Amino acid sequence: MEHYELTIVGAGLSGISAARRLIKQGRENFILVDKGKSVGGRLATRRVAEGKADHGAQFFTVRTDELEDEVKGWLDQGWVKRWFGEKYPRYTAVDGMNRLAKQLAEKTPVSLHTKVSKIVQLNDVYYLYDDAGNEWKSDKVLLTMPVPQIVELLKNSNVEVQPAALKQLKNVYFNPTYVGIFQFKSSTRLPENGHVDEGLPIGVERLVDHQKKGISKSPIVSVYMEGDWSRRHYGEDYVMTLIKENTEKFFDWDDLESEQLKRWRYAEASKTIEQSYMDLTGEGTLVAAGDAFLRPTDKAGRTRFESAFLSGKDAAAYMNW
Ligand SMILES: Cc1cc2nc3c(=O)[nH]c(=O)nc-3n(C[C@H](O)[C@H](O)[C@H](O)COP(=O)(O)OP(=O)(O)OC[C@H]3O[C@@H](n4cnc5c(N)ncnc54)[C@H](O)[C@@H]3O)c2cc1C
Repeated sequence: MEHYELTIVGAGLSGISAARRLIKQGRENFILVDKGKSVGGRLATRRVAEGKADHGAQFFTVRTDELEDEVKGWLDQGWVKRWFGEKYPRYTAVDGMNRLAKQLAEKTPVSLHTKVSKIVQLNDVYYLYDDAGNEWKSDKVLLTMPVPQIVELLKNSNVEVQPAALKQLKNVYFNPTYVGIFQFKSSTRLPENGHVDEGLPIGVERLVDHQKKGISKSPIVSVYMEGDWSRRHYGEDYVMTLIKENTEKFFDWDDLESEQLKRWRYAEASKTIEQSYMDLTGEGTLVAAGDAFLRPTDKAGRTRFESAFLSGKDAAAYMNW
């Protein structure tokens, strides 16, 4: 049976950031696992015919020197570019946000298609089980999934968690988000930078044209619905019709080639935790991190790319052995 010093569950940006920190510290005996077929989590990009669309995070902002230092390197590598905005410029990945996640995870030992379904603590070691029946041992475990998924996993596990920590985790709720992805035959009327987040109808959060954003050969648009709207209409089968009705005046629907709907069950935390990670045992062996864990100094107060990046990094520094 494999035995790692650390298992990181979740290969979104938090998990990747933790892994990058460990590699910098010279750590090798760890594994980053994800239930998906690719790393990145909510840094998600979809191919649509000849084109491409980001349908999770569209961009990120930078408020800390730590992320700024990293971003300098990513700009030099040609992985990201400045997209728009002055006070907090929006950066985006030149080839789609998921590609950036892959570039960041390049040197990391990763196991995909690995959904951790149970963790059992026995004699100071954690036994992890995935839903395909695989089992491995780990001295420490870092959980970086959206908080409700962490709570769910803990519920199905046999580990000692401090009751106060569990209570705090149970208090974190995530809003869902619906994203309509539309492929048009010809260019859209959206502004030159391809981004609209003002003057939109109630319920609509953002429109992005990926051809104008510069990541797609053809005009593919993502329409983001607000969290409240998405929660109200969650699971309804006419969501796509409503999205199109809501954004009627922005697009020429006769020019539509194809449409797809993406539903994020956990998109953004409606309440965050004011610490950048949480030690669940008090011994640093089982730790929770992720975008809902914000440094107390965080002024933006939102789950986002930067909070995920910092949370993973801080948790890895704390768990270093
Ligand atoms: C629609 C949308 C739009 C957004 N827009 C922006 C934006 O414009 N700017 C911005 O800064 N942020 C934005 N965000 C937020 C940003 O994407 C997230 O804050 C960040 O990517 C979260 O990273 P994470 O690693 O914490 O979580 P995730 O990316 O969710 O990663 C968690 C990973 O855990 C995996 N996982 C879950 N359960 C298990 C399990 N049991 N076993 C194994 N693996 C598991 C998942 O597959 C996933 O890959 C947006 C998010 C969404 C959904």
